[in-house]
Amino acid sequence: NKQVILRDYVKGVPKQSDLMIVSNTLELKVKPGSSEVLVKNIYLSCDPYMGILMREPTPSTLALLDAFVPGKPIGGIGVSKVIDSDDPAFIKGDFVWGMVDWEEYSTIKMPMIFKIDVTINVPLSYYTGILGTLGLTAYAGFHEICSPKKGETVFVSAASGAIGQLVGQFAKLMGCYVVGSAGSTQKVDLLLNKFGFDDAFNYKEEPDFDSALKRCFPNGIDIYFENVGGKMLDAVLLNMNICGRIAVCGMISQYHLETRDIVNNLPNIMFKRIKMQGFLFMDFHDQLEKFYEFVHPLLKEGKLKYVEDIVNGLDNGPAALVGLYHGQNIGKQVLLVDAH
Ligand code: NDP
Repeated sequence: NKQVILRDYVKGVPKQSDLMIVSNTLELKVKPGSSEVLVKNIYLSCDPYMGILMREPTPSTLALLDAFVPGKPIGGIGVSKVIDSDDPAFIKGDFVWGMVDWEEYSTIKMPMIFKIDVTINVPLSYYTGILGTLGLTAYAGFHEICSPKKGETVFVSAASGAIGQLVGQFAKLMGCYVVGSAGSTQKVDLLLNKFGFDDAFNYKEEPDFDSALKRCFPNGIDIYFENVGGKMLDAVLLNMNICGRIAVCGMISQYHLETRDIVNNLPNIMFKRIKMQGFLFMDFHDQLEKFYEFVHPLLKEGKLKYVEDIVNGLDNGPAALVGLYHGQNIGKQVLLVDAH
């Protein structure tokens, strides 16, 4: 059973060498009476928060999730096939999604996995993203935290990524004016020509974020869906409208800095009566069915585009994961462990 192991707690931006691949033997059977389910992992999700869990835990990061343990496999959301089961809710051949370790085969216990309804005709990889926690994050984060109204202006950072591409499209479906920032010409092109954003800019080519935002939002920003933090947040605060909303989904630019960026314009939150709120997808776990009722018809009717970046083989997992911190992924980063 090949596994991806954390060597030691990470300092700075995670590197491929912080992870190693090991192989060991595993009996492909569950013990009777264990209530366990043995699965073969098909797809694994590469997510920015996993880098936070590679660091030595602090009280703040423990409020997010338990850290990974040096010498043990890292883990995250995966899509898997049941090989053997001592849990009557799952039978051999079922497809499931949920938390698994980064390895070829995992032994798991309920309630960490959900059965996949294979009659819904979508790629299984979608359960690492749009039909899993990330879709819920985008849906609930935008609709619940941002309280959007038709005609409002919406800015999304890391806009071509897994969550950003969905938030932008959900905002367009609401009748909002939507602008995104991303880190390459290719990504900006995707925003404009695939996901239907009204405008977009490459923040690496336009380091004066304030000017870029003033050009894209001559009448200011009503809603900011925050994925990156730091200097972008500082510039956004200058351009927010009175009673604007900021949903803090993530701050990827800040996770691995020893000294974080100073955000100078925080007083604008008070001056402009801005509502700024952080959230985690698990806050909205009870909305998964409601989200599916919303998203399934959109996918079926082709009204929602979804771009994935699928890398093949567990050996390439470390590179795919650390690539997130350098913008290497084009769309949702997924790792294909083994075709089912
Ligand atoms: P993405 O698919 O957007 O991948 C990460 C992207 O972030 C990269 O492709 C890159 O895009 C951008 N990025 C990386 N480093 C920087 C940097 N220093 N400055 C600016 N941009 C950077 O990831 P997700 O959609 O999965 O996640 C987006 C955000 O949402 C993250 O902050 C993540 O931590 C957060 N998140 C929050 C959840 C919650 O429950 N609150 C759940 C899941 C994710 P580019 O090339 O455009 O720079």
